Amino acid sequence: MKYALVTGGSRGIGRACCLKMAELGYAVLVNYKGNKAAAEETVQLVKDKGVDAEALNFDVASKEDVEKVLGGWMEAHKEDIIEVLINNAGIRQDTLLMSMTNEQWDSVMDTSLGGMYHVTKQVLNPMLMNRYGRIINMVSLSGLKGMPGQVNYSAAKGGMIGATKALAQEIAKRNITVNAIAPGFVKTDMTEELNEKELVNLIPMKRFGLADEVADLAGFLASKNASYITGQVISINGGLYS
Ligand code: NAP
Repeated sequence: MKYALVTGGSRGIGRACCLKMAELGYAVLVNYKGNKAAAEETVQLVKDKGVDAEALNFDVASKEDVEKVLGGWMEAHKEDIIEVLINNAGIRQDTLLMSMTNEQWDSVMDTSLGGMYHVTKQVLNPMLMNRYGRIINMVSLSGLKGMPGQVNYSAAKGGMIGATKALAQEIAKRNITVNAIAPGFVKTDMTEELNEKELVNLIPMKRFGLADEVADLAGFLASKNASYITGQVISINGGLYS
C-alpha cells in the first residue's frame, strides 16, 4: 500500500494535508504528539474519504521516539511504502531574544528543524530504493524574511529552507522532489490568539489563509503534475511579502 505521512496531522494545516492526501488516493499516517482525540478525528475524516488511515503517536523532536514508533511501523509494514512525507509539525514560542529561555530556543528548533531531520532520515532509504517520492516541508514567511519576536522560529524555518534546497539536489536523480511551503498567516490553533482584525491590514488580500488552501498546494506538490519542481520554496500568503 502507498502511504502519505503527515507529521502534526492531528490539527490545523496538517489535518487539511491528511485529507488532501486521501483525495490523491494515499493511505494516511497521521502523526501527533499529545492530542489523541484530534488525531483520531483526523483518522476518521480520512477514512470517510474511502482510504486507510492510522494515528502514529511520536514526538518528532525525539530521535528515539521516531526510531521506535515510526521505525517500528516501517518494520511491521515491509510491503508498504511511504511515498509522500509532509514535515508539518511545528510550534511557536514567541518572545524577544533578550528574554528568550534556552528551553524556548531548543523546543522550537528541535520540533521544526530537528523533527524534519529525524523523520526524513527514517523514511528516506526506502524512498530512495523505490526511486520515487515527495517530501514537503512546512516552513513559514518567518523563515524567509525573519520576524521580530520569532528569532527561534525564524531560525528553525530558515534552517528547513536550506535543508530543503540541499536535499533536493542530493536525491533529484532518484525522482524524489523536496519542496517547502511558506505560509503567511493561516487560521489555525497556532494563530488563534493573534489579533486577526489588526493583522489583516498588513495582508493585501485582507484576510488570513485557510488550512485547506495550504493543503491544495501540498496536494499539487505531492502529485505527479509537480514532477519537475524541486528545491523550491513556494509562498502562500495573500500577497504579504514584507
Ligand atoms: P497547529 O494548529 O498548532 O497544529 C500543530 C500540529 O503539530 C498539531 O498536530 C500538533 O500535534 C503537532 N505537533 C506539535 N509538536 C509536535 C511534536 N513535537 N511532534 C509531533 N507533532 C507535533 O499548527 P498549524 O498552524 O496547523 O501549523 C502547522 C505547520 O505550519 C507548523 O509547522 C507551522 O509552523 C506552520 N505554519 C503555520 C502558520 C499559521 O499561520 N498557522 C504560518 C506559517 C507556517 P498535537 O495535536 O498532538 O498537539
